[in-house]
Amino acid sequence: MSVQLNNPVKYLRGVGPQRAAALEERGIVTVGDLLGYLPFRYEDRIRFTKIAEIIPGQVQTILAEVASGGGSTVRFRGGRGPVFHVMVRDASGQLHARFFHGAYLEGRLKEGQRLVIHGKAEVDPYRPGRVEMVNPQIEILSGEGAPADSTEVGRIVPVYEAIGAISSRMLRRIIYSVLLNFDGNIADPLPEEIRARYKFPTRREALLAVHFPAKNENVELLNTFRSPAHMRLIFEEFFYYQIALALRRSQDHRQRGIAMRVREEKVREALKRILPFKPTAAQKRVLAEIAGDLERPFPMHRLLEGDVGSGKTIVALEAATIVIENGYQVALMAPTEILAAQHFLSARRVFAPAGYGVDLLVSGRKRAEREEALARIARGETKLVVGTHALIEDPVGFHKLGLAIVDEQHRFGVLQRKRLIEKGASPHVLVMTATPIPRTLALTLYGDLDLSVIDEMPPGRTPIETRWTADAQLPGVWEFLRREIAKGRQAYVLYPVIEESKQELKAATLEYERLAKNVFPKLRVGLLHGRMKNDEKDSVMEQFRRGELQILVATTVIEVGVDVPNATVMVIEHAERFGLAQLHQLRGRIGRGKEKSYCILVAPKTIIGDARERIETMVATSNGFEIAERDLKQRGPGEFFGTRQHGDAAFSFAQPLRDHEILEMARREAFAIAEDPAQAGEIARRLELVSPTWRARYQLASVG
Ligand code: ADP
Ligand code: MG
Repeated sequence: MSVQLNNPVKYLRGVGPQRAAALEERGIVTVGDLLGYLPFRYEDRIRFTKIAEIIPGQVQTILAEVASGGGSTVRFRGGRGPVFHVMVRDASGQLHARFFHGAYLEGRLKEGQRLVIHGKAEVDPYRPGRVEMVNPQIEILSGEGAPADSTEVGRIVPVYEAIGAISSRMLRRIIYSVLLNFDGNIADPLPEEIRARYKFPTRREALLAVHFPAKNENVELLNTFRSPAHMRLIFEEFFYYQIALALRRSQDHRQRGIAMRVREEKVREALKRILPFKPTAAQKRVLAEIAGDLERPFPMHRLLEGDVGSGKTIVALEAATIVIENGYQVALMAPTEILAAQHFLSARRVFAPAGYGVDLLVSGRKRAEREEALARIARGETKLVVGTHALIEDPVGFHKLGLAIVDEQHRFGVLQRKRLIEKGASPHVLVMTATPIPRTLALTLYGDLDLSVIDEMPPGRTPIETRWTADAQLPGVWEFLRREIAKGRQAYVLYPVIEESKQELKAATLEYERLAKNVFPKLRVGLLHGRMKNDEKDSVMEQFRRGELQILVATTVIEVGVDVPNATVMVIEHAERFGLAQLHQLRGRIGRGKEKSYCILVAPKTIIGDARERIETMVATSNGFEIAERDLKQRGPGEFFGTRQHGDAAFSFAQPLRDHEILEMARREAFAIAEDPAQAGEIARRLELVSPTWRARYQLASVG
């Protein structure tokens, strides 16, 4: 029976209810979704390296069988986890493999079992002359002696990231059987002229080739996502996205907006009244750009980019002031309740002399309070409404919304931004981000937005000193904390998880108790984590802000935007567990005042690889752009942009930073076509025929 793109995966061979559920959790419901799940690398299993011919220092793939014994686990006393050892052999020789945290392999490898092993070979430090592999990727092949399945060897083999309990190998089989029966007839929405010019394969050819490449494909191109099939799939995603941006942009320019008066004395006076400090040159420049937009009779769509701590908030409040003085309301949406509460407090402080009403909307407020706030907003008494996504819920109605501000915009999807905008009649829109995206890339990605960059830090900041400390030195760290606190400072102590889990990580709650009771019995210690109730969170944060708590033990809930200038020490335990961008965001919570700040990363000195590089990078630099660049190299941009989790843009194949040059190509083509709105509209229509989800994804709804 033929398989089509819109068939549900749950009826496929090899997919039962359990696997279907795991797939669905990853957003894979249809065959089309499944084929959008690309291998993250490819192995050339046509020619394996012989064990005897392994060259230390190089990555190789070998086909071997488990030698006698099936391997064993060695456990150490003390902190280090168990290590699994196994010997494998082929006709040419034997190889030793070690797996850290490898206890899960215990009992799974039987003598004679065939394995494909992929990894970097090194000279065994304990037995010079012998080579070994440390933590290689392994794949256990089908039953002993049985002929290998053609999806496993004798070809260029796709390697997928496992989904739940579905291993790479199972995914490969499922996808292979889909492709065997794949319906020949799938529509290709890419204009033929473009396809021909770039020599792209058809959509069907591309989907086949990207999962099971021909034997003569270039493995290197495949692994860098630059095979013709990859190029085409990446191009088309960017292309549709750019068509959508181009159409939206031309719509925006036709739309009537609210022209604000910004040059009047009254407005200038109001701006002066609210400013708590002298703005930096960058802040002034950026405000001028925003004011220029607000003056014009069509809606502003501007992205404000600036590293953590560069002072975006006050610029947003200045923009708000202009709008309020013109008789309109402002909405400010933040991704977390803590952040919303903080913006609320600082806005109230800044706006107090001007007498503007400020309200906070988050979920989980008392009903009566919420009703009152909603009424004030509807009557127009509230000039600035700060909130989380609760702001975009149905019952929230504004009197006259003139400006919508979205903080940390990468945390929100396009849809959420749109819903906020729809709360007014073509309000101005300002989105802010601390993600330092290179300028050209930002313009291409958020092509419907204009860009302002704050590239300067407020004066009087002492650089943060960052140190890498081993666990054994913790008593010294706590002593240091005590001294800083004695000088009147405050400190954060961060942990990666909330409750003790199977992993041997220190959990925030347990450590909180230990620190409060045993280590700092005389100090006031608080606890903050994501599973606390909102009002608990608020009150802890408020106590810390007021200095009533001296130490705040927390998880990453404090990651985004929290601003307590008197906090000058941050201890991050298990620092090796955090991503680089995350560490940078976390560290951005200190170094916000005049006093010198210290970031202490606690991690074993023995860590290697990416984790080591992350810590070393943190110690070496605090420049957000530099850190972003290294982070992108390590992880790829999906996670960096938050696209995976949050669906902003939500590309399946494309990764904006990795695929920068294809993105620019696609943008040129799309904007050329969009010169002729009829032609662009036609493409948008064809897209819907191919995939309704695409239409939604690219927000083409208002286009057709
Ligand atoms: P972010 O850009 O990360 O949102 P904030 O707006 O929270 O940064 O600002 C960080 C800190 O710097 C805040 O305490 C803010 O009051 C302070 N700040 C911002 N601009 C200036 C300035 N021009 N002079 C002095 N302090 C400033
Ligand atoms: Mg901020």
